[in-house]
Amino acid sequence: MTDRIDVLGVGFDSVTIDEAIARGMTLMAEKRAAYVVTPNPEIVMLAREDAALLNAVEGAALVLPDGVGIVKGARILGTPLKEKVPGIDFAQGLFAKMAESGKTLFLLGAKPGVADAAAEALKARFPGLAVCGTNDGYFQDNAPDIEKINAAAPDLLLVCLGAPKQELWMQENASKLNAGLMAGLGGSLDVFAGVTERAPEGWQKLGLEWLYRLLKEPSRAKRMSNLPKFGFAVIGKRIKG
Ligand code: UDP
Repeated sequence: MTDRIDVLGVGFDSVTIDEAIARGMTLMAEKRAAYVVTPNPEIVMLAREDAALLNAVEGAALVLPDGVGIVKGARILGTPLKEKVPGIDFAQGLFAKMAESGKTLFLLGAKPGVADAAAEALKARFPGLAVCGTNDGYFQDNAPDIEKINAAAPDLLLVCLGAPKQELWMQENASKLNAGLMAGLGGSLDVFAGVTERAPEGWQKLGLEWLYRLLKEPSRAKRMSNLPKFGFAVIGKRIKG
């Protein structure tokens, strides 16, 4: 494993998306329920104030820079990362490879019904991908969900509970889970199910996914106030040398 690149206290793996997918497939084959996290600037800022979240991120087998903000921050700090690896693109790369070899997927998270709709959409998009179970993300007690996941024994478990819940859940339960690999992917099930839209490609290329999202969901404004704070913190650190 390469040394991680520090971005305001959070270590990131410097990998291309293809390297991330290859590493994900290797981890999946090792079947030790290792987990992948994909922090964006909002999550880096949360982790600076939340030791439990930081610890959960550090415990991940792979920490991927979800979005252009982290990549720009690393460059400004003089320790560039290879490229951005959006969690949703990483997952889709895994699905394509999993479909070729009949690997199984379990979807955990989002409101009731969403994971099932996401499963149908993914099966249509990736013929050969086997969805072996789904569960919504509003459970009260972890135990029944863990039993259900373990009975299904998925090669990949997507944990889509939002940050920091998903990172803490994966860290806490990794040792009890019978799964190849886990990935914490926020609102991805809503995107796969068509409940929320991803920014059009032009916006993505310009690094403006965050702005598209803010325009679509203005209620995120408070959370997103962490974005400029991230920018100022990076510049402040750069100036201090
Ligand atoms: N969610 C969930 N359980 C919870 C809280 C949230 O399953 O207790 C789901 C929510 O329905 C949504 C996702 O987690 O599908 C979080 O989406 P968001 O876009 O906020 O993700 P983030 O920006 O944190 O990656």
